[in-house]
Amino acid sequence: MRLAGNQGRLTPALRPTHAVPPASRTIIVAGAGIGGLTAAIALADRGFRVVVLEQATVLEATGAGIQLSPNAMRVLIGLGAAPRLEAVTVTPEAVRVRRAATGSEIVRLPVGDSELRYGAPYRVIHRGDLQAVLLALARQRPDIALVLGMRVDDYAVHRNGVTVACSGADGTSEHSGLALIGADGLWSRVRARLIGDAPPRPAYRTAWRALLPADAVEPALRAPIVDLWLGPGAHLVHYPVRGGRLINVVAIAHDREAVTGWSAPGDGAALLTRLPARSWAPAARDLLARPEQWLRWALYDRPPLARWSRGPVTLLGDAAHPMLPFLAQGAAMAIEDAAELADALALRPGDPVAALADYETRRRRRTAAVRAGARRNDRGYHLGGPAAAVRDLGMRMLGGDRLLARHDWIYGWHPRGGDVPVPAPADATAVRP
Ligand SMILES: Cc1cc2nc3c(=O)[nH]c(=O)nc-3n(C[C@H](O)[C@H](O)[C@H](O)COP(=O)(O)OP(=O)(O)OC[C@H]3O[C@@H](n4cnc5c(N)ncnc54)[C@H](O)[C@@H]3O)c2cc1C
Repeated sequence: MRLAGNQGRLTPALRPTHAVPPASRTIIVAGAGIGGLTAAIALADRGFRVVVLEQATVLEATGAGIQLSPNAMRVLIGLGAAPRLEAVTVTPEAVRVRRAATGSEIVRLPVGDSELRYGAPYRVIHRGDLQAVLLALARQRPDIALVLGMRVDDYAVHRNGVTVACSGADGTSEHSGLALIGADGLWSRVRARLIGDAPPRPAYRTAWRALLPADAVEPALRAPIVDLWLGPGAHLVHYPVRGGRLINVVAIAHDREAVTGWSAPGDGAALLTRLPARSWAPAARDLLARPEQWLRWALYDRPPLARWSRGPVTLLGDAAHPMLPFLAQGAAMAIEDAAELADALALRPGDPVAALADYETRRRRRTAAVRAGARRNDRGYHLGGPAAAVRDLGMRMLGGDRLLARHDWIYGWHPRGGDVPVPAPADATAVRP
């Protein structure tokens, strides 16, 4: 991989006229997030040259913990990520669902058996570590050129493919390729240009994120378990990341305010008012009282699109199908997209327009179903009173094994699959973090 502009400057050798390989096999990717980097690696492994244009001048370790379910891990392992992931991930034994008021366990989903059950492990990781692993894999592939500090502003389609107009610290530039993949996230400019639909819808839920050093918390909090506490109007998730050295804590609460960005500072005292003592056990509130620094971001999603490709331009990940994080599948869907996109383009290298249409067809129904599942969990997670009691009873009666089996269609997915059918809508007891 060639890396340019890590201080917002392009070296002369990497200016577009020299850096961009001939357009005949070049794919342009807008955005070096989880989806964009995975797509670049998968495309390079299928014989394409890839130019990744990223607006950030430095790829920072932003975000919070990410659960990498077996469907995502299967793709990452296929791209050679396993040894690097080993050092920074944790394999949870289970997802433990708890009642907020007492801390008592409602049910335990045995995700630790995922390798046996799904043929790939269930892992948890810090988003920044995942991005670093992907970056390291991209660096090993000379056919990937990553240009940092380069924002994609616009594009023009022509008979040889597409030309992308960008701007950076050194001014504007153009890059040409066979196809453009908009992997530029929730606020995608490529999507605005391609679809021109309404902006993302605020969900009026805010995620509060903090990291605690593992050696500063009691052993129970360091256990390899994903703990999910369900309370009225809010839920709390915590699990170890960075190979067990940090504890990722995320609380999601209803909120009328919609802050944008990933890193607005949060006031721990304000968070505690949203998870009050009358509904939250002392152990949960004690954990919430510990971090000195909280970061907040508002949650958004969008209704599914009927189409997201036109000619040689398509979307991937949050740009195509943003979803609420209540099924822990946003990054996983971006990773799946990347695998299917590379496969579709490899099958029809001479006809990228048809390949992108094929990619979209493979992905549309599944991503819409997963998004709908996340919305259902949004309703189920934050119940209070008798409705919450019914939910908890339903989960207990179902048991962890059968609750996990309701997610086989998500976790059992294989690239170029079709072997795992999309399910009928589940009820509110189908709770997953
Ligand atoms: C609280 C919370 C918890 C979550 N937990 C999970 C989880 O457990 N499991 C899971 O699978 N998912 C989870 N997600 C979702 C996941 O984080 C996202 O779905 C995922 O990061 C989307 O990846 P992406 O590559 O599509 O977009 P992003 O990661 O947002 O990357 C987009 C990239 O494009 C760049 N960019 C933007 N505009 C431009 C432009 N014009 N030109 C060039 N570059 C541009 C950005 O700088 C960025 O680097 C969670 C989300 C939240 C909010």
